[in-house]
Amino acid sequence: MNTTPLTLKIENEPTGLHEKCGVFGIIAPKTLALGHLLYFGLYALQHRGQESCGMAVFNNDQLLLHKNTGLVNQVFDETILSTLSGQIGIGHTRYTTAGDSSIENAQPVVSRSRLGSVVLAHNGNLIELETLRDAFHLEAGDSFGANSDSHVMARCIAQALTPAEGNLANAAKAVFEQCEGAFSVVVATGDCLIAARDRNGIRPLSLGKTEQGYWVVASETCALDIVGATFVRDILPGEVLTIHLNGTMESVFLDGKRSENFCIFEYVYFARPDSRFHGQTIYESRLKMGALLAKTHPVEADFVIPVPDSGGPAAIGYSRASGIPYAEGLIKNRYVGRTFIHPTPELRTQGIRLKLNPLPSVLEGKRVVIIDDSIVRGNTSQRIVKMLKDCGAKEVHFRVSSAPVKHPCFYGIDMSTEEELIANQMSLEDLKTHLGVDSLAYLSIDDMKQAVVPDATSPEREAFINPCMACFNNSYPAGKPKSHAKSTTPSENTLTEALLRRGK
Ligand code: SF4
Repeated sequence: MNTTPLTLKIENEPTGLHEKCGVFGIIAPKTLALGHLLYFGLYALQHRGQESCGMAVFNNDQLLLHKNTGLVNQVFDETILSTLSGQIGIGHTRYTTAGDSSIENAQPVVSRSRLGSVVLAHNGNLIELETLRDAFHLEAGDSFGANSDSHVMARCIAQALTPAEGNLANAAKAVFEQCEGAFSVVVATGDCLIAARDRNGIRPLSLGKTEQGYWVVASETCALDIVGATFVRDILPGEVLTIHLNGTMESVFLDGKRSENFCIFEYVYFARPDSRFHGQTIYESRLKMGALLAKTHPVEADFVIPVPDSGGPAAIGYSRASGIPYAEGLIKNRYVGRTFIHPTPELRTQGIRLKLNPLPSVLEGKRVVIIDDSIVRGNTSQRIVKMLKDCGAKEVHFRVSSAPVKHPCFYGIDMSTEEELIANQMSLEDLKTHLGVDSLAYLSIDDMKQAVVPDATSPEREAFINPCMACFNNSYPAGKPKSHAKSTTPSENTLTEALLRRGK
């Protein structure tokens, strides 16, 4: 038998949307096997970042850090976890853009202050890093070899944490006051844990408590559930919450106007369906999106099928509201992550078959409504439609449970230019032709909002009536970067060229 190993080049799947990132933190008055608790928390947040992950644990004055590229179960094993005991720990799962997945950009990031180490894990994106650098007289490159917004934040906090200041909360607040854009962060030193959100509350961050009285913060409530913590409340927009080792906490708020402009895309796609925001599960809001889509864009068909997995709840909602039976027409290979093996460009175009395989017995000769949560770049949708038609589907009606994505996101999602967004580049009619569908329709912006904003009877409604919908309506609650101009980077140009090659 030939046992020679075969080496292949591993590339990133170029489709879909990527969140960066997931954060998790825990603080207890006694020494715990924190590595294991952090592991479960990060495992629940794996969908928010799949390229690198890490943990930092304070055991009295000692800081223990382990991070690397790879999935949580690839980076950590029992031997490593068993060394990560302590009283305060933070963890991070990260998605990075192509070519940027180096170990130095993995989080948590560490910065040395005159009072000891500061560790930070960040979800979001700062839009004006220069403002922050200038405020703390930080030179570009003055952040231990890495220049991400997260490194700059950590460096500035460490710089602000002086013997005269002597207080992590004050140092962190001083830095966050200068941060523009989106951030949900956990920050720790050896004696406290801070959880904070930007003034617009764009990225999520929830607080929970275990039966034993340990405080837990996490990007999504599914990560509280997995460690047995009960949801207490969300960290509020502009809040800087400090939790001490003895369990006491205090809260201060950033100066200036604060408002809840939570990212609506968390409801549409990013968050796990079992997570809860604003008093409802993501699953419930996706059901509503599907039901509203059925009312506004009905069609005669034999089956409603989802694009697995994120189109599932909306497809169920569409099916229930329309009376058209729900069926599984595409089967997802659950063991294929977002990183595929593509040894040749020809096989790259077949990548979608690695992830999804059609069921001819369901599709042949049938009129199907296929539901996806969004169309961003359009390449995956086009391949899926071709797959359905090749499999014998008589008619394919594409329904999208969000509005057309026409504008970039500057708040932590990898959609940076208009050119890469197919709904920005094509009319509805052209896109229908491009995808090869018999009909195409989107949920309206108003109906999206109706599906996620709590109804008038909910106590949550007042706090959440203006979600960020900037990638749909071009209204940016935390502003745009001053430098925002037309695409210039090679990766962006590659995407534009790819769209042009497909007949635009
Ligand atoms: S622009 Fe879109 S993806 Fe970005 S935060 Fe706003 S709603 Fe979310």
